[in-house]
Formats: sequence, structure tokens, C-alpha cells
Amino acid sequence: MRTARLAAALVLAALACAACGKEGSPPTKGPAAGKLPEYRVAAGFELPRSSTWRKAKSRGRFIVGAKEDQPYLGEKDPATGTYSGFDIEIAKMVSASLGLDPRRIEFRTIASANRETALQNGQIDFYVGTYTINDNRKKLVGFGGPYYLAGQGLLVRDDEKDITGPGDLDGKRVCSAAGSTPYQRIQQDYPKADLVAYDTYSVCVDNLLTYQVDAVTTDDAILIGYAAKVPDELKVVGKPFSKEPYGIGVPRRDNALRLAVDDALAAGEKNGDWEKAYDATLGLSGVPAPKPPAIDRYPAN
Ligand code: GLU
Repeated sequence: MRTARLAAALVLAALACAACGKEGSPPTKGPAAGKLPEYRVAAGFELPRSSTWRKAKSRGRFIVGAKEDQPYLGEKDPATGTYSGFDIEIAKMVSASLGLDPRRIEFRTIASANRETALQNGQIDFYVGTYTINDNRKKLVGFGGPYYLAGQGLLVRDDEKDITGPGDLDGKRVCSAAGSTPYQRIQQDYPKADLVAYDTYSVCVDNLLTYQVDAVTTDDAILIGYAAKVPDELKVVGKPFSKEPYGIGVPRRDNALRLAVDDALAAGEKNGDWEKAYDATLGLSGVPAPKPPAIDRYPAN
């Protein structure tokens, strides 16, 4: 049992360390390439009112912020440096719709706590990585979408009996990512939980497997992926206890880009690419494709 747990921890450590480029880490499994949609690059597309788009166009590619250690959503293969997952597909779909070859996207891993700064200082053109739209963040960045609706959940060890929902967290060590909405919710609504933060959820999961923490909390979509990697060791418990609509982060003042991203999402949902992308990525975790949430084309603020 302990050996299995250690092996599982090592698998996740490899995931967490995808950026370290260490030789010998087992490559993480990406979705079957054959089933992924082929996004058609919109010929002659122009978005002159967007300074972000103009910059990307002259560069010949978008620079997109993403996650690299979230199974089925955003994963980086440590051997090849290739990113895969649902969020990555959404980024490709948008890039093609905005007239730039999705195969040329340069992905950069940005942790939850650093997303707003990365968009504000122009380090990335847009961000796709389990990024919840909310009013606080809207003061700092713009959001296209939402393109998916997640909800906060709890991941525990398979033999855990005491924790079945957020009401059971008093005195328990709970791990989440710094700067995330799940972290803030536990801090505010469940102050008796012994909350710890790391930069990434994969470090939290490692700590769970090695008994340093009792639960990991974040979006169900993320937790289901970790549980699927080591199903004998981990389980997701209870019902989702928040709404986490995923948006595409853009620089706050670039409304032209934000609305073009909304158009790109709407088109991909209509022509079947969204569902195809879901089925080949997040769908592999066993949850059938939901209906995407309504896109919120909010006025410039
Ligand atoms: N969706 C939540 C958030 O944006 C949690 C996932 C994440 O940290 O990326 O904060």
C-alpha cells in the first residue's frame, strides 16, 4: 500500500516537475491526437482595433498563458514540451478563429497567482487555464467566455472516511493554490480549516499522497483528472459547492480582443469543434460533454 502510494506520488511529482526538464521523468499521457479537431485558420481575418492582436499578427503567433500540470485540461509533456488538454484546445480554436496558426502558439506556464500580472505587463496575449471569471478579477483583466462551468470540490485519499464535504474541514489540513478562488472560499467560509497554499495543485496532491495534508480543494474538473491518474489512491467527494465559470483572460482594455474571443468561442460551439475538443480531452475523465454555458458579452467597463 505504502509503496503504491509512493509510486503514485512520484508520478505526480513528475507532473509537477514538467517544467524542470529533468531527464527520465515519464511523459504524461496526452489525448489521442487523431480525435482532436482540426481548426481552420480564418483567412484574411483582421482586428486592427486590438493592439494585442496587432502585436501577435506581426510576430506570427499568439503567446498564451496556460497550466502545465492539470490532467485533461492543461498538461505539458516533459519530454517534448508539448501542451495538451481542453484549455489548450480552446486556445488553439481561438487562435485559428483570429487568423493565426494554432500550431505556432507559444504556450507559457503561469500559476494561478500570477495570471493578472502576466496579462497586465504584456507577458502573454491571452490566458486559458481554469480561470474563473469574477468581478474582482474583472477590475484587473478582461474575460472572454465563459466556455465551461466547473464547481469547487474536494479530493481526499481513498481510505478517508471523515471528509465528505466542506463542512467536515474543521481542524483538517486543506491544500489549494495561492491566488485561487477555492483558496479564498475556504479562507472566508470555512475559517476553522487549517489551510495551506502552494503555487500548483500538483504539489498539493503530492502532499495528500504523502499524508502532509488531508484534502485538496479546487475545481471538480481539475480534481477528477488527478483522481483518474491514481484511482486506487484518491477520490473526489461530495457535491460541487461553488460555480466556477471558466473565461479566457485578456488585457483589460482590449475590448476588441475580448469580443473577438467571444465570437471565436461561439463559432466553435456552433460548428462542433468545442464538443469534439471536450470529448478528446476532459471527456476522457468519464464525464460526458455538457452544454457550454452562455457567453457573456459584457459592455466595456
Ligand atoms: N478556477 C479557479 C480559479 O480560477 C481554480 C483553478 C485555478 O486556480 O486555476 O482560481
